[in-house]
Amino acid sequence: MTEKTQAIQQGWLTDARRLPSPHYDKRPNRQDISLLIIHYISLPPEEFGGHYIDDFFQGKLNPAQHPYFEEIATLRVSAHCLINRQGEITQYVNFDDRAWHAGVSQFEGREKCNDFSIGIELEGSNQQPFTEAQYHALVKLTKTVMASYPQITLQRIVGHCDVAPGRKIDPGQYFDWQAYRQALQR
Ligand SMILES: [Zn+2]
Repeated sequence: MTEKTQAIQQGWLTDARRLPSPHYDKRPNRQDISLLIIHYISLPPEEFGGHYIDDFFQGKLNPAQHPYFEEIATLRVSAHCLINRQGEITQYVNFDDRAWHAGVSQFEGREKCNDFSIGIELEGSNQQPFTEAQYHALVKLTKTVMASYPQITLQRIVGHCDVAPGRKIDPGQYFDWQAYRQALQR
């Protein structure tokens, strides 16, 4: 099986769908990108497919389309990338810019993880396993990110739950950290 090569040029994946989000700003220090944070998201909760995550990260979510959307439509959040159930990647924010995914957070005593991290969302929830296609895409994307941002080492790949304990549980009970970490070392 031949695979398309994946590269990052000027902060953007060359082979991903690109939907720029207005929810970002400049990092305090672009030379300090040294953490990868894994998340999950589904919109509406527990439903997959559709364009609602794209809409949410782009500030276009229509609150009339679902009761839950009324609660979140005005939140200004984003992630660098989303991997959907089919393993397709959408990038919303340039890796060199600060996406708004971690919120109040701390890693090894340092706060504001958005400043120095890259955020990847998996379309998923705490109720269902992620798909093989998602793991495949995530491993490939992680390797590409690590090659471009070598301060992101294996020890500096964490879940949202690890940087916001008590507040966040993603990527949740179904995320297979062992398989993911093993695949990264191959
Ligand atoms: Zn999260």
